[in-house]
Formats: sequence, C-alpha cells, structure tokens
Amino acid sequence: MKNLLGSSIKDLENVALDYGQAAFRGRQIYNWIYNYRNKNKNIDQIEVLPLDFRKRLKDDGFKLSELSFQEKNLANDGTLKLLLTTEDNESIECVGIPTEKRLTACLSSQVGCPMDCKFCATGKEGLKRSLKASEILDQILFIENEMNRKVTNIVFMGMGEPLLNIDDVLLSIRSINEDFHISQRKITVSTVAVPKMIKKLSTNSFRILGNCQFTLAISLHASNQIIREMIIPSAKHYQIENIIEDCKQFVRDTGRRVSFEYLMLSGINDKLEHANELINLLKGFQCHVNLIQYNQIDGVEFKRASLKNLKFFQSKLLNNGIAVSFRKSRGLDKNAACGQLRQNARNK
Ligand code: SF4
Repeated sequence: MKNLLGSSIKDLENVALDYGQAAFRGRQIYNWIYNYRNKNKNIDQIEVLPLDFRKRLKDDGFKLSELSFQEKNLANDGTLKLLLTTEDNESIECVGIPTEKRLTACLSSQVGCPMDCKFCATGKEGLKRSLKASEILDQILFIENEMNRKVTNIVFMGMGEPLLNIDDVLLSIRSINEDFHISQRKITVSTVAVPKMIKKLSTNSFRILGNCQFTLAISLHASNQIIREMIIPSAKHYQIENIIEDCKQFVRDTGRRVSFEYLMLSGINDKLEHANELINLLKGFQCHVNLIQYNQIDGVEFKRASLKNLKFFQSKLLNNGIAVSFRKSRGLDKNAACGQLRQNARNK
C-alpha cells in the first residue's frame, strides 16, 4: 500500500509522469488532497483525473488515507476526541480543540507509549509501535473532516513520545508546513524528555526541514528529580538539571524559546516549596511555563490541584520574572485525558 498523503507537489508530479500522464495531473492530486473541503478522501473522488488513471492508481495500491473511524466524543465546549483504527487494527486518539479563531489538532505519534507516566492512561498500556508520517497526517484529515474547518495549529501531545519517533514526526512536520500550509511556528512538539534526543531533534530538524522553527515543550511536571521520578519513572535516566541544560542548548541552536509544561497535582507538586524550587531551576532562562489543570482518570491516585493553589503558584512565578500561563483543560466532560477514550474502548 502506498499512501499519497504526505507527498510533496514534486512527488505527485513524478507519480503522474510515471503513469504517462502530464505533470499537471500530479498537481491536481496535490490540490485535491490538501483541500480540507474534500471529505472522506479516496482516489475515486478526484473526478478531475481521467477514470483510467484513477483505476490504475487504485489497482497499484495507492491510497489517500489509511486510518478508519472508530468512535468520537464531543465535549460541551466543542472539543472533539476521535478514536481511529490503523490498518493493523490498533487504536489511536487525536483531538480537535476549537476556539473562534483557531482549530488546534492534538496528534498522536505512537500507538501506546513506553514512557509510563503515572498520571496518563496511555502510559498504562505500553508501546505497540511508532506511527508513520502518513498516519500522523491522516489524523489532521479526520479532524478537518469531522469539524468541517481547516486545522490552524498542531500540538504533538497525544499518545506517544515524539522524540522516540523523531524522523516520522519531522517528515509529518514538513508536510504540515509545506502542504497543509501551517507555519512551523504554529506547531508544538511536546516531550517528557529522553536523554540525548533534544539535541537530536534540532540536528535532524535542520537535516530534514532545513530549519527548526517549531516550539519545543518539555513536560517537566516537577520541581526536583525525586518528584519527577515518582510521577515519570523513565525520568530516572535523565536528571532534571541536565534537561534544563539541554534546553538551553536547544535555544542557542535554534533561536526558539522552550516552554515547560507543569501539571498541577494536589499535594504532590503544588506547594510554595515547589514554586521556589522551580524558580531556582529556571532562574536566568528565558522560557515559558504552562501550568495545567489535571484531568483525573480511573485507577490513578493523583488529584487535580485546587484553583487557589494554582493561582498562588502562578503569581509566585510571575513575581520572580518567569513568564507563566495557565492552561485550563479542555473537554472535561468525558474521556478527556490522553489515552482515556482508547482505554475505555478496550474495556468494553
Ligand atoms: S504523558 Fe505522554 S509521554 Fe507520558 S506516558 Fe502519556 S503519552 Fe507517554
């Protein structure tokens, strides 16, 4: 099976030429694939192409999409979570988060995840495999299809650890940028951090994309190594101070700012002492901290920090010169946390 999704205009011109067609036929395929108004993409629907060309493409195993719809969950605030099935019958999630001006797609980079974060439903299932670039891009098509809007922003914050699937994530970013016409500056790659991989991310980005303009978001979630290892067991391989040093190097290499995600967990990391530790850790580093409300999941003992603690934590950081914002969890009604829809479907 050859998926044309993720192909550049040049690739598709070459496909047309290989079939004895004029190059403009390739451009017609290109314009059709990346137009969000074209729904349920398959080759039969590209009616501008000659019938026999479409037939030959299909007979030779070409496709435009390889995921299929399994289930959806629409929250009261309009956030749409989709459960999609891969060709090898695995399930992955993606989320469309709308505001008036934006539609942000939260994408998965792997089936499952090996990082075993204790607050995450996906981490409980372990890793099945990494996703191909075309499977990452297909999630955007499904979100646009279901929400009838063009995706404007991308966050790699769904299932999986993007730094363990760097090349396919970067290949998908190439297409998101050049084919879906979403600026790299509107793309965020979120990671719990894997030793040596922050450097590799910028190196491979320059190799594959020619630059590195997306935002790197580190899921820090702790102010010291002990708490971090408690909530993210894989963190034992990567000291928190080394993560900060590698992020500073990333900023020097790319000129981009790094943001730190901090999930506020009641009684774990939401006290004054933790705010003070975080201030010391980030002192002098031009970065941004995102405080996040926790979506509770069944079978996990962590509780959401109170709004009072969250506001206090935020003001403490602000008063010490650290840029900080508070991100309210979206889609709080049902199955909102990462991996929850998939977990519930498997338990049915
Ligand atoms: S939070 Fe992200 S990195 Fe951690 S287990 Fe879940 S999907 Fe993996």
